[in-house]
Amino acid sequence: MYCRNCGNKVDENAYICVNCGVILKKDNNTNNKTIIKKNNSNGLGLISIILGIISIILSLSYFFIDISEVGMYTTIYERLFYAIDFTFPAIVFTIVSFALALVKKNKSCNQVGLALSLIAAFLIITEFMVIIIY
Ligand SMILES: [Zn+2]
Repeated sequence: MYCRNCGNKVDENAYICVNCGVILKKDNNTNNKTIIKKNNSNGLGLISIILGIISIILSLSYFFIDISEVGMYTTIYERLFYAIDFTFPAIVFTIVSFALALVKKNKSCNQVGLALSLIAAFLIITEFMVIIIY
């Protein structure tokens, strides 16, 4: 490619023109994009962590709520619908947390978000078991 400032031929991957010292626009833009991408994915990772924590708190709270009314449901389908209805907010938070964590799964905070959403999912499944065998 050619330098936009002095017009001399420069290397395709050059960051700075060796003739005039100007920072080459193409590489500059790429760098800016990389920084924006990085910030976005960290933001998503943080949201994923926050939603993961909310999911875990919600799913833990279900273990302290009286579920004796589930006794009037006899079939496994009625129990399943009750369980979905009962744990619905935690299910939504967990799915969103999980999905956001997967956007950039190599980032450390996304991995924390992923771990938290998996713990929440495990707690929700345990609550399902409790409701079905109650
Ligand atoms: Zn130049």
